[in-house]
Amino acid sequence: MTTKYALVTGASRGIGKAVAEALAIEGYHLYLTCLHSGDTLIAYAHELSEKYGISCLPFVGDMGNADDVGMLFQRIPDLDVLVNNAGISYVGLLSEMSPEDWRNIMSTNLDSVFYASRLAVPLMLRKHSGKIINISSVWGNVGASMEVAYSASKGGMNSLTKALAKELAPSNIQVNAIACGVIDTDMNCHLSIEEKESLRQEIPCDYICAPSEAAQMVISLLHAPAYLTGQVITLDGGWT
Ligand code: NAD
Repeated sequence: MTTKYALVTGASRGIGKAVAEALAIEGYHLYLTCLHSGDTLIAYAHELSEKYGISCLPFVGDMGNADDVGMLFQRIPDLDVLVNNAGISYVGLLSEMSPEDWRNIMSTNLDSVFYASRLAVPLMLRKHSGKIINISSVWGNVGASMEVAYSASKGGMNSLTKALAKELAPSNIQVNAIACGVIDTDMNCHLSIEEKESLRQEIPCDYICAPSEAAQMVISLLHAPAYLTGQVITLDGGWT
């Protein structure tokens, strides 16, 4: 079996954590990152390597900071898959948002995709193959009140996906995004039980998606034909 390497940003919890395990099951050696939860990530990396017999390198750093991403890639000599997952949300009126909060959303959710992709692409070009998967949101497609910056960052991610896919298709590197609806992670822990329940009632599939189902979508994209590129695939249970 050929040795395959994947990087998942924001893998200490939520969707990134589930994606990491799904990739480990597929036999990928992993590079995992997070912002603050170093001990949690180190323990998880150890667990995955023990359980699935893969190598797993944890890295703590800010993916919205070009220097941190540069340091991460100094440790990555080979890469087949990049999952740009690290992200944060901000709920509040645009008129009450500070420039610092705007910058933080943009750097974490969008600049990070640029920083990681620009360093991943040369590694993939060398192999004439690779997959970049961006974890986006339905709000990047349709916009959300009280989440203007978040929507803009994910809308930017969607356009980046389409444009970079065109740039890299001749080099056999596929770039796609998954526009998630509501996924049951800590990102939604500000929602009350009643709010979650009323959201569930709006979703035709009648449940809030588990992170493992989003991870399954990532794996499906890895197995998809090379002709599938530049797509923003909505995974929202028919919600939007
Ligand atoms: P989460 O809050 O559970 O996990 C976020 C992860 O990102 C953590 O590991 C955290 O350490 C990491 N992270 C945050 N800022 C970072 C930074 N600057 N540098 C490095 N790592 C950083 O969130 P989640 O729900 O698992 O979200 C993962 C992705 O899915 C995000 O991009 C989010 O926008 C997207 N998404 C989530 C939902 C949802 O309903 N949960 C819906 C649509 C899209």
